[in-house]
Amino acid sequence: MSLSQRAAKAAEIAREPHLYKICEGCDSIVTQRVATCPSCHGYRFDADPAAVVKQAEILGSREQTSVLSEDLLG
Ligand SMILES: [Zn+2]
Repeated sequence: MSLSQRAAKAAEIAREPHLYKICEGCDSIVTQRVATCPSCHGYRFDADPAAVVKQAEILGSREQTSVLSEDLLG
């Protein structure tokens, strides 16, 4: 996913943070419906909307190693 695509997705997440949660294993943003993280298979998540918005801004603003799963597009 390119940086611009990630920024667009991050903006989308920030508009509806209640649909997402943050993996505590790898800091990826995943959809609320997943039981385990698609990236690291962790099962601990932070579902605080404020934290999701903050993490979306981080993921959307720079290249980094955490994955913003392409699964989110589905
Ligand atoms: Zn993870």
